Amino acid sequence: MKKYITCKYCNDPKTVIIHRIKERVFKNEYFEIAKCPSCGIIYTCPQISKDEIGKYYTGDYYSYQPFDTSSFISNSKSFKKKLTNLLKKAVLKEIYGYNVTDYPQTPIIKPLLKFIAIIFQHQIGYYLPPFVGNGRVLDVGCGSGTLLYKLKELGFDTHGVEPSQKASEWSKEVGLNIKSCDLNEAKYPDNYFDIVNYSHVLEHLPDLFENLNETKRILKKGGLITIDVPNVSSLERIILGKYWLGWDPPRHYFHFTPEFLKNTLRKHGFNVVKELYPADPRKVIPTAPYLWDYLTKCKYPKLRKYFDPDKNTVLRLILIPIGYVLAFFKQTASIIIWAEVKK
Ligand SMILES: [Zn+2]
Repeated sequence: MKKYITCKYCNDPKTVIIHRIKERVFKNEYFEIAKCPSCGIIYTCPQISKDEIGKYYTGDYYSYQPFDTSSFISNSKSFKKKLTNLLKKAVLKEIYGYNVTDYPQTPIIKPLLKFIAIIFQHQIGYYLPPFVGNGRVLDVGCGSGTLLYKLKELGFDTHGVEPSQKASEWSKEVGLNIKSCDLNEAKYPDNYFDIVNYSHVLEHLPDLFENLNETKRILKKGGLITIDVPNVSSLERIILGKYWLGWDPPRHYFHFTPEFLKNTLRKHGFNVVKELYPADPRKVIPTAPYLWDYLTKCKYPKLRKYFDPDKNTVLRLILIPIGYVLAFFKQTASIIIWAEVKK
């Protein structure tokens, strides 16, 4: 029998509990996922308070780890590195409009590189914001600063906010400009940033709507919010149901379909300018390694790598074409949206 509650956001009493899910790290609590038929919001119940949520993030949470500080574009003379560099430069230049040095400009090579960039844009492992010359970028929930470190190398004036002390300690150690607090506490000036980025962060914010208002205030007119979130409309979610990693309660407070995310942005004063379904092999079955652990009760952790396209080349090659098909049908496990502050 269906269970109904009253929507916390619009008071519709016909809000349906669509799943009851076991918390995946400590495994001793259950949370529910509610979906409102009126306002379209999908949210976790109960929503843990900001003061309590910290205990659900263990020290080895993936975005809190120290990262490799070698250059994004390496100076190595090896043929393999040189080839990888050329691919990265082609993607940076042709897809995102970045300034790159030593880039071939000959009439035959350039169109070829553009073609290669289109093919390989999903393989370099990063989705970047568009280049704004000397632009000021803020990464909200920047973790240990992996993305900011690359953006700094690529010419941005980089800033980050990260409430986890442990993660922000490392990012400060590598010279990044980070505030250890929530966005609302950071008190940036009005019209300050060209880009505010949320990579797998928006779903972790209990005060989602306040964050969007604050983001609009600190962005320049015409500035961009860039968002990457799990896609509730993905094929992976449809197949796996409550076992889908993207729910991840109580760390994820909200769950986004592309339509709900775009409508929410419009209501908060943004114009959606780009909607991307990343054909990245990593975005085809990201739940698989976790599902393996769940089904085997973590008895065979060594075999989990066979379900991870970053560690299994054969799997990655199989997932590349599937990624393109999913992207074509807007079914990838995450969605990327860019939206501009209305002028
Ligand atoms: Zn509602």
